[in-house]
Amino acid sequence: MFGYNYPMGIQLTDSYGRKINYLRLSVTDRCNLRCQYCMPEQGVGHKEHHEILRYEELLRIARAAVAIGIEKVRITGGEPLVRAGIIPFLSQLAAIPGLHHLALTTNGLLLPELAVDLHLAGVQRLNISLDSLRPDRFALITRGGDVNMALEGIGAAFGAGFPPPKINMVVMRGINDDELFDFAALTISHGVTVRFIEYMPAIADDHWPDRTVAGQELLDRLSTRYRLESVDKGVYAGPSRDFRIIGAPGTIGIITAISGHFCNECNRIRVTADGRMRGCLFNDETLDLRPILNRNDDHLLQETLKGMISRKPQQHGIEPGQRTVPHTHFTMSGIGG
Ligand code: SAM
Ligand code: SF4
Repeated sequence: MFGYNYPMGIQLTDSYGRKINYLRLSVTDRCNLRCQYCMPEQGVGHKEHHEILRYEELLRIARAAVAIGIEKVRITGGEPLVRAGIIPFLSQLAAIPGLHHLALTTNGLLLPELAVDLHLAGVQRLNISLDSLRPDRFALITRGGDVNMALEGIGAAFGAGFPPPKINMVVMRGINDDELFDFAALTISHGVTVRFIEYMPAIADDHWPDRTVAGQELLDRLSTRYRLESVDKGVYAGPSRDFRIIGAPGTIGIITAISGHFCNECNRIRVTADGRMRGCLFNDETLDLRPILNRNDDHLLQETLKGMISRKPQQHGIEPGQRTVPHTHFTMSGIGG
C-alpha cells in the first residue's frame, strides 16, 4: 500500500554523527493517573479526539521512520493503554518489516486485562513506571493511584510471558528516595531491571532542584549496601548506565538526564499524539507532521523526518541546580517521556 522497500541496515545519522534508530511514539495525552512530576494538578486541557493522530496516521509515521532507518519504536503517552483500539494498532505496528524492536511504557494499571493481548500483538518488552512500593506514598505521588493495581500489572506482565519488565522509578529527594534499596532488591528477588531516573523539570516545580537526585549520588548510596558491577548495554538500550548487584538476575540502570546528560549518545526522536515531531525533549523546536500527512505523500514524509533529524540539537541546555523551569507549556504526559 505504501510502496516502501525496507532495506536492512540503513544507518540514519544526525548532523553530529549520532546514530538515530529509536522512535518514541505517543498515542494519547490522556492518563488514568496524574503523577505529580508529570502533570500539574489542574489546568491540563486534553486534546480533542480530532486533534489526536488516527492510528492509520501513526502507522504511516512509523513505516516512514522504519524506511529511513529507525529500528526500535516505543509506544508511550499519557497512558497508552487507555486508548481504545490499542491492541489491533500494535499488531499492525509489530508487523512492519524492518522494525526490530517494539516496546511500550505504561503505568501498569491496565495490564491485568491487557498483558496477554499485548504479548500476542507482538510487543516485545514492557517498561512499567512505579515510584513507590508503599500504598500511601504511591497514592500521593500519583494523586490517587492504587499501588496494588500497579503491582498486579507487573505480575500480569510476567504471567503473559514477557521478559522481566523494566521498572522505571523517578527518584525524588524527600519523597521516595528512601526506597532505593527496596527497589534495588527487586533485581535480586524478581529479576527485573530497575531504572532510577533523575527527576526532570517537566512541570513548574520550584522544588525541582532540591528534589532531583544526581545519578552519581544514587550510585554512591546503592554502593553502601550492594556490590555493583558494570553491565554492557544492549544494542537498542537507552542512555542509561547499567549495573548489576553481583549475582542478581536483574540489572539496575541509572538515567542521568540532567546531571550527566547523555546527549552525545542520544539515539531518539519523538512524535507526540497530536503529530508533533520533536528532536529533543528539552528543546522547543517541534514540527507539525499533520500537514505532511494530509498530502498523502510518504516520500515527502520520509524526507521531512530526515530533515528534522538533521536539525536535532547537539544537547539540551538544562544545568543541574538551574532554578527555572524552561518550558511552561511542557507536560511529560503530552510528549511521552
Ligand atoms: N503513562 C506511562 C508511564 O507512566 O509509564 C507512559 C508515559 S510517562 C510520561 C513515561 C515516563 O516518563 C514514565 O516512566 C515517567 O516516570 C517518566 N516521567 C514523567 N515525568 C517525568 C519527570 N518529570 N522526570 C523524569 N521522568 C518523568
Ligand atoms: Fe500518567 Fe505516566 Fe504521566 Fe504518571 S507518568 S501522569 S502515569 S503519563
